[in-house]
Amino acid sequence: MEKSYRNKIFVLTEFRGERFHPISFELLGKGREIAERLDGELCAIVMGSNVSRDSCMNLIYYGADRIFLYDSPLFSDPNVINFKHNLVKLVEEEKPDIILIGATHFGRSLAPRVAAALKTGLTADCIDLEVDEKGELIQIRPAFTGNILAHIKTKTKPVMTTVRYKVMSAGKMDLERKGSIVVKKAEEPKERNVKFVGKYGVRKLNIADADVIVSGGRGLGSPEGFNLLKELADLLGGVVGSSRTPVDEGWIGKEHQVGFSGNTVKPKLYIACGISGSPQHLAGMKDSETIIAINVDPSAPIFKVADYGIVGDLYQIIPLMIKEIKARKVEKS
Ligand SMILES: Cc1cc2nc3c(=O)[nH]c(=O)nc-3n(C[C@H](O)[C@H](O)[C@H](O)COP(=O)(O)OP(=O)(O)OC[C@H]3O[C@@H](n4cnc5c(N)ncnc54)[C@H](O)[C@@H]3O)c2cc1C
Repeated sequence: MEKSYRNKIFVLTEFRGERFHPISFELLGKGREIAERLDGELCAIVMGSNVSRDSCMNLIYYGADRIFLYDSPLFSDPNVINFKHNLVKLVEEEKPDIILIGATHFGRSLAPRVAAALKTGLTADCIDLEVDEKGELIQIRPAFTGNILAHIKTKTKPVMTTVRYKVMSAGKMDLERKGSIVVKKAEEPKERNVKFVGKYGVRKLNIADADVIVSGGRGLGSPEGFNLLKELADLLGGVVGSSRTPVDEGWIGKEHQVGFSGNTVKPKLYIACGISGSPQHLAGMKDSETIIAINVDPSAPIFKVADYGIVGDLYQIIPLMIKEIKARKVEKS
């Protein structure tokens, strides 16, 4: 006999190319926790082109009870209108209580359209979700430039929320978990109101997935300082990050920005060079595994979160680091 649940929780997965974006598993991890608290059914929505059954089974192993699978060429490119149309229709049929969407570029574009069509609220960019004693979802997100954490309840149903990438963890894979896959037929929207002109300007840098980030701030003094950081990042197999100041100054592109209004990162190694450590910057990198800070000011707040602090001029210290790493590489070869 089919199990009956008191609640239904939707997680919108992101299928790109041939695999799921890791945010899908992070959302399932949190979705599972919420489902356990609310006696809920956790449903994963898959919209993609050429989605294999094996990859869908993975979603079950990571916590989903039921999968709604839309496998259609309509979803081969990130045209949000196709996604919106089918997701809204499914929500109207299935009436979930909660919908979780990743706060990726795609999710940030899709979620408000879906919320508007459903005439429901949306809490964007959450960094945590909890269930209170009344069984209501508490959506936690930074407010007032990251100085406080707002706890938000939504009055309208379904409760819709987008969740930042890399702030939650996937659950443990359980190969014994059972679930069902419901194959749905994708429908092409009649009214588009938006013309999709094609894909271009694909961003090469995905700072959120990097294992090593060498980040620069105002202390670099000029855009040329990033050349030095790039040399160190290349030697370590990493990428260059930035605080907001160099981005605002036009020294480097916004896709490099780490922090409250930029990317949230969790690399194995984060090297902060000439960055003071404002709350807005820390919001995006404090969970890095190892943090090294280089700053001339021993009282800079960045040293409070750093595992290793170097007080000194980055233009003296980084060339020494580069020299040492190169020497070790020569020794090894
Ligand atoms: C709504 C809002 C959102 C924001 N979002 C973000 C965000 O996403 N990310 C972000 O980073 N900021 C963000 N900010 C801006 C934030 O408040 C700070 O202004 C910013 O982080 C400061 O950048 P910084 O550390 O590079 O510069 P500063 O605070 O000016 O620090 C520069 C540091 O460099 C050191 N220094 C100087 N010369 C050298 C040298 N030669 N060698 C070594 N150290 C040196 C100085 O001692 C100083 O500590 C936001 C602000 C607002 C209001």
